[in-house]
Amino acid sequence: MKKVALTGDRPTGNLHLGHLAGSLMNRVQLQDSFDQYVMLADVQALTDYFENPQKVKDNILEVAADYLAVGIDPELSTIFIQSQIPQLAELTVYFMNLVTVSRLERNPTVKTEIAQKEFGRSVPTGFLCYPISQAADITAFGTDVVPVGEDQLPMIELANEIVRKFNRLYQTDCLKESEALLGKTTRLVGIDGKAKASKSLNNAIFLNDPPEIIKQKVQAMYTDPDHIRISDPGKVDGNVVFAYLDAFYDNAEEISSLKQQYSNGGLGDTALKSLLNECLQKMLLPIREKRRFLRKKDILEICINGTRKAKSVAAGTLAAVKSALGINFFNEMPMQGENLY
Ligand code: ATP
Ligand code: MG
Repeated sequence: MKKVALTGDRPTGNLHLGHLAGSLMNRVQLQDSFDQYVMLADVQALTDYFENPQKVKDNILEVAADYLAVGIDPELSTIFIQSQIPQLAELTVYFMNLVTVSRLERNPTVKTEIAQKEFGRSVPTGFLCYPISQAADITAFGTDVVPVGEDQLPMIELANEIVRKFNRLYQTDCLKESEALLGKTTRLVGIDGKAKASKSLNNAIFLNDPPEIIKQKVQAMYTDPDHIRISDPGKVDGNVVFAYLDAFYDNAEEISSLKQQYSNGGLGDTALKSLLNECLQKMLLPIREKRRFLRKKDILEICINGTRKAKSVAAGTLAAVKSALGINFFNEMPMQGENLY
């Protein structure tokens, strides 16, 4: 039996370089040896985009196209749409009993997001609970490995707590613990120097950005405001251009000597940015080209087939969960005219 990998993305916009470094590169590798599920997390996207469901809908096929463009192969990976699998919502409901509100409020990623979105105490319940829904997604497929960025570690920790609690309380082993597989770059910074490149912060280079936009974004990258003349010594730490070169430039030795030169003085931002621009243009060109030949109809069909398969697997887990809870009534109770007493 192959081990299972699962991960997902919120269809709130196109995928970007953060996804590529944090997770997509690993998914492309994993699909050869794992039974891999890739989820379009529209239910989760609605937890904070509930006033704009059209945006979520519009981005489903966009994100699916990004998957195919980077090399996720529907023959090897099951691409599915979260909202079309009600079993996941049902599992979420059973898991909600096992998690306290204070536990959810302690989640550092959710805490940061609540602050960013300025929710305060008016945070939608669905949003606060999305890590529980993620636990349902992960466990529904018997997941072993979750290829993600660092922001997802608290989610996997919670999922494992739920698994242990469920299995202990209901004397079962129907749920499995999973572990994170972090990408080469666990958290890619935004082009503005903010801690994380993200769709919501609009500070990312997207996989389908046209060449001129990539160039503009690289030019606008935050470097070192005190590095004015080429001869000035510059800061490497917190310098976005170096963070991106570390993530995507394949000659680490060359980067390390450029860092030396930059911090001693004598290397200008323009030369550095032009090196990064060249590197990103080269990397993103084939992805953009592949995307151009994808047809909506084919992408939809891939999602339909993947969702069908994923649904039957999730249904199996849900049945086991309901049996463990003793509420798989119609399958397990005497229904054929037997007297109750
Ligand atoms: P949103 O702003 O809507 O939350 P996002 O850009 O944060 O979108 P998600 O869909 O939340 O993207 O994240 C999907 C996956 O990509 C997760 O595994 C996450 O860890 C990874 N990821 C997203 N952004 C980054 C990043 N900047 N660096 C590394 N990994 C990332
Ligand atoms: Mg996110």
